Amino acid sequence: MVTILDGKKTAEKRLELLKEKIEDAKLYPRLATVIVGNDPASQMYVRMKHRACEQVGIGSVGIELPAEATTRMVVDEVRRLNRDEDIDGILVQLPLPAQVDTERVIGAIRPDKDVDGYHPENMGLLFSGRPKFSSCTPTGIMTILAEYTIPIAGKRAVIAGRSIDVGRPMAALLLNADATVTICHSKTADIAEELKRADILVSAVGKAHFITAEMVKPGAVVIDVGINQLEGKLVGDVDFEAVKEIASAITPVPGGVGPMTIATLMENTFRSAQERACDRVL
Ligand code: NAD
Repeated sequence: MVTILDGKKTAEKRLELLKEKIEDAKLYPRLATVIVGNDPASQMYVRMKHRACEQVGIGSVGIELPAEATTRMVVDEVRRLNRDEDIDGILVQLPLPAQVDTERVIGAIRPDKDVDGYHPENMGLLFSGRPKFSSCTPTGIMTILAEYTIPIAGKRAVIAGRSIDVGRPMAALLLNADATVTICHSKTADIAEELKRADILVSAVGKAHFITAEMVKPGAVVIDVGINQLEGKLVGDVDFEAVKEIASAITPVPGGVGPMTIATLMENTFRSAQERACDRVL
């Protein structure tokens, strides 16, 4: 019998717990979001993040820059937020418009306010096995695996997708948890063969029904990061109906990885506020 890894329920539970922790800590963490342009999907994600802030007692400010903003304008905004002592976390919503140099913008965020974990310093710490802030989506996946007590050490984990926000940090987190990790990508010679060996399979490709039942080992744990539109419906990368017959556990889309991403962002922001409060005392 397959276990459905319920990200919505797990995220709600984490957010309730976080709300209590924030109240007990008598802190008022604050997150700043920066959005450039008016991409509807980005606007929706930012709105969801602000809503989650409200739910747990984190203050939030939303900075909106025009679609034609330059790299300089975005970097200046980030630097202003770096200096603002009332701001604990800075999130720049990606993707940025083509004329903006994303690497320069991410590199400008103060690493101790980089709650999305994309700054090279935080990536380096993650890959050296001493994570401080690690990207919210893969960290949320580690949380849901822990919630359902899914063993990781010694397991073969195979990830489809090598992006900087999901595939690569996912590999580092699973490696840090003692899995044997393979990353597959668009140039992998025989991806079906690689995936078929996975005890834990993570798909972050962005193609509807990319993972078919034939690619999944019986009893595998399947984590679906993908968000795709198929015939007007939101679906993941995994052919859920077919794969759930084979897997031992699987995340649905929607209601799997997505809510965990937002809950992790809230947890990272609180942690930043706690650490900054400690620094002020020392
Ligand atoms: P991306 O486009 O940056 O990366 C996609 C990766 O898939 C690339 O590394 C590429 O090499 C690989 N790929 C593409 N075609 C392939 C093929 N045929 N075979 C093997 N690999 C292939 O995307 P991303 O930012 O990593 O996001 C991936 C998906 O996850 C998207 O659908 C995105 O919307 C979703 N996503 C969801 C969340 C969430 O919170 N649920 C967060 C981030 C991304």
